[in-house]
Amino acid sequence: QKQSNSNGDVIFRSKLPDIYIPNHLPLHDYIFENLSEFASKPCLINGPTGHVYTYSDVHVASRRIAAGFQNLGVNRNDVVMILLSNCPEFVLSFLAASFRGATATAANPFFTPAEIAKQAKASNSKLIITESRYVDKIKDLQNDGVVIVCTDAEPSPIPEGCLRFTELTQSTEIETVEISSDDVVALPYSSGTTGLPKGVMLTHKGLVTSVAQQVDGDNPNLYFHSDDVILCVLPMFHIYALNSIMLCGLRVGASILIMPKFEINLLLELIQRCKVTVAPMVPPIVLAIAKSPETEKYDLSSIRVMKSGAAPLGKELEDAVSAKFPNAKLGQGYGMTEAGPVLAMSLGFAKEPFPVKSGACGTVVRNAEMKIIDPDTGDSLSKNKPGEICIRGHQIMKGYLNNPAATAETIDKEGWLHTGDIGLIDDDDELFIVDRLKELIKYKGFQVAPAELEALLIGHSDITDVAVVAMKEEAAGEVPVAFVVKSKDSELSEDEVKQFVAKQVVFYKKINKVFFVDSIPKAPSGKILRKDLRAKLANGLVN
Ligand code: AMP
Repeated sequence: QKQSNSNGDVIFRSKLPDIYIPNHLPLHDYIFENLSEFASKPCLINGPTGHVYTYSDVHVASRRIAAGFQNLGVNRNDVVMILLSNCPEFVLSFLAASFRGATATAANPFFTPAEIAKQAKASNSKLIITESRYVDKIKDLQNDGVVIVCTDAEPSPIPEGCLRFTELTQSTEIETVEISSDDVVALPYSSGTTGLPKGVMLTHKGLVTSVAQQVDGDNPNLYFHSDDVILCVLPMFHIYALNSIMLCGLRVGASILIMPKFEINLLLELIQRCKVTVAPMVPPIVLAIAKSPETEKYDLSSIRVMKSGAAPLGKELEDAVSAKFPNAKLGQGYGMTEAGPVLAMSLGFAKEPFPVKSGACGTVVRNAEMKIIDPDTGDSLSKNKPGEICIRGHQIMKGYLNNPAATAETIDKEGWLHTGDIGLIDDDDELFIVDRLKELIKYKGFQVAPAELEALLIGHSDITDVAVVAMKEEAAGEVPVAFVVKSKDSELSEDEVKQFVAKQVVFYKKINKVFFVDSIPKAPSGKILRKDLRAKLANGLVN
């Protein structure tokens, strides 16, 4: 649907009508609004152990943990860090933070100590929930008064000075906290369109709006309904799984099958055993499944919906995977952490479905406005013309934590969030992403911020200038590569550069290739001309 506003902007809206969204409610009240209908239903299924938590178990446990947080001095707007792979305790901790009026910031447990410390300090985390095996990485933070809670079950020992998660669940008296819908409930980290990772403030109102846009309303069941068994193998520390699997699944009363990591045989076996109906994926997992001969051995016919997001999915891959899942509809979603994260989704799963177009990311979500602008002039563009995708609505972030300048660069005065992605909307209101304007690199859907790697590299005494950009690669989608200017007479080798970075970062941020150059192309303002470097790579002009 197309409309014009008073500025003459061309505004795109969903093909479905707007809905009522109760975004005055705190997130947990909204999520558990229909609890009485599902109380005894399986809510979380722990994949590796088979342990099942009903909706009532999850509700009671998360309220108790909220009381435990309260006893530990976690107050409204305090930050709790969740440093866990996917597990039921992740979900309980997130919901408990919401009940307590606190904010949850999740981080990848495979991060290096420095990466975790950066996020813990920037977010001012008071408490970290993790497993014993990661405690060595965060021990130093205890000197700053950070409390560490380990989820390991008894009788496994936990490191000295840490608390056990089950101790938190002993508390029963939860104080009522005054929560404003504008309070921040989730604080994922993202580099956005430029620079270093920043805390993305997602409020109760923002997340309620986003979940409702995906699963509420008159033409519900866009993705999920209460009979669904939804696979959660994507990491919950990324907002895609946290929102579009966990929160959406809970809202509709579905069962969520939790897997801590991607292992193809276990995944296929669990799909068969638990009769998974919805499988949210990212392109690298779609690729692994499409290529695997193992799929022949399992009955995968229960899957009715497969959706892919977080990175582009090519048509050949779509076709290959569709052939393996004949009963499944495949559709894409398009998200960005700062947008809450869902901007557009396929309507191929709706009660009255629209056709799914190959390569499309669906249409803009309901109760939101989208426009496509000329990146140079800012003028809004009509259908079929590629430009920067912008979105407006209650679901987008409140801003970056303690960073008004970066917030103002991303959300303009009229409330439009500028994504840094280039896309077009076709005659059927379907959105196609065609390019990325921003510097972000996506390795298997994980964010790699070039500025972070450049800051490390420039700290090397033999490097005088550097630029990091994305290079296309089949399995990962993109990998980071570095253009390096060595200091005079330096003998620095490619391997030394790679090792220097590898020691300091999580595996997916490792530099894949190094190109030694005489200079880095820059605009008069000093900004790196990344486009020129990417073009060099694409045209094979470097070796
Ligand atoms: P993140 O904030 O980590 O979710 O990363 C957001 C970015 O991932 C977007 O701004 C896009 O560049 C990219 N992205 C997400 N979904 C898609 C998609 N379906 N197709 C292409 N790129 C995508």
